[in-house]
Amino acid sequence: AGGKFSRKKPHFNIGTIGHVDHGKTTLTAAITKHLSEQGGGKFMDYSQIDKAPEEKARGITISTAHVEYETPARHYAHIDCPGHADCKQEEYMSHIKNMITGAAQLDGAIIVVSATDGQMPQTREHLLLAKQVGIKKLLVFINKVDQVDDPEMLELVEMEMRDLLSQYGFDGEQTPIIMGTALAALEGRDPERGSKKIQELMDAADTWLDVPARDLDKPFLMYVEDVFSISGRGTVVTGKVERGTITKGADVEILGLGAKIKTTLTGIGKHAPPHIAHKGNIDSRYSPLIEMFHKELERGEAGDNMGALLRGIKREQVRRGQVLVAPGSIKSVKKFKAQIYVLTKDEGGRYTPFMSNYRPQLFIRTTDVTVALTFPPGTEGSDEKLVMPGDNVEMVGELVHDIALEAGSRFTLREGGKTIGTGIISEVYE
Ligand code: GDP
Ligand code: MG
Repeated sequence: AGGKFSRKKPHFNIGTIGHVDHGKTTLTAAITKHLSEQGGGKFMDYSQIDKAPEEKARGITISTAHVEYETPARHYAHIDCPGHADCKQEEYMSHIKNMITGAAQLDGAIIVVSATDGQMPQTREHLLLAKQVGIKKLLVFINKVDQVDDPEMLELVEMEMRDLLSQYGFDGEQTPIIMGTALAALEGRDPERGSKKIQELMDAADTWLDVPARDLDKPFLMYVEDVFSISGRGTVVTGKVERGTITKGADVEILGLGAKIKTTLTGIGKHAPPHIAHKGNIDSRYSPLIEMFHKELERGEAGDNMGALLRGIKREQVRRGQVLVAPGSIKSVKKFKAQIYVLTKDEGGRYTPFMSNYRPQLFIRTTDVTVALTFPPGTEGSDEKLVMPGDNVEMVGELVHDIALEAGSRFTLREGGKTIGTGIISEVYE
């Protein structure tokens, strides 16, 4: 007891996923209850987390409750997957959409499985989705153990879950599986299978789920916005550092649009943002650039607008749409698999469905490239299948030019001035 609620600890975005009625909301409430008793936040009861369907029916959008708590080690924000038995499918779909668009970003999740049912269709669906939105590690909570007398039955559920985790590319052997009863924990009875198990679950969360690397700790990546030659100095590319840090003298790679060129960064200048640098005539466009090397920097980092002076590179060798990266840290590819959310017409998207081979523009960072969208091999009836506005679908994209992409990269799809969808890459191909 007595822990103080603070934001100084590492932050982690967690969520509860799993089949409807398996106990996600009960578990969420039980966690807040258990941790609140240790000073780790405020108790939120079931109805605060999952508001009654009648209440929701009056509102326009259904937003998931903002749940947060902390352990001695971390601060957690928790998103409970909606999908009350009485609620509409719409609400559940909007949650999936939020996961794809990044509105609900999960660093890790607890998959809740009822001991009475074992794995069910949404258990599998959520595992697949978790994988596709880039979640690397999960925890399993086998719930409602009070309803099952046969220990062999529990073992079976655990074994099946381990198999299923492996099948979807998670670590089926090592993933912590905790068995308990969320309802008992919430109601403050049966501490052996209640609160004690919640404690075990949160200990496992603290140790098994890895806090994602901060942008500063990731490999260097700067996207090219513009290229200049400065007489007497050489070629300078300007742009924003998306992640990582770089020091003068470091090796870098120019990547994308057919290029993969190794070079050395011989100077770093602080760069005025492009909207300032580009205003007015050509002279005022160049002067800030020349000036920026009057006060050279030793180091650039995530968030900086910078100018990079490159050794032995001609102006024609670099262009917007490419990236400057730590060598070997990312690949430039044409083909990828992604999870896509297709905007409805109310969201400014298409009015009509599309089919395989649809070719919108893919926008990422400072560039856009035409992409052909098809269904992944093995998708049933993929040629005739229609993708409707409002759908969440898995698709394979093939770009007309290669660009730097990796699992987890987010992008938007546009056509004729309209945003038709957003997506997140789950896999890149050579
Ligand atoms: P969700 O749809 O996954 O969020 O599931 P809920 O949390 O709404 O729980 C569904 C039902 O299961 C509710 O009636 C809960 O009271 C009940 N429930 C949740 N956890 C337990 C448990 O550990 N034991 C028992 N017997 N019932 C539970
Ligand atoms: Mg629920």
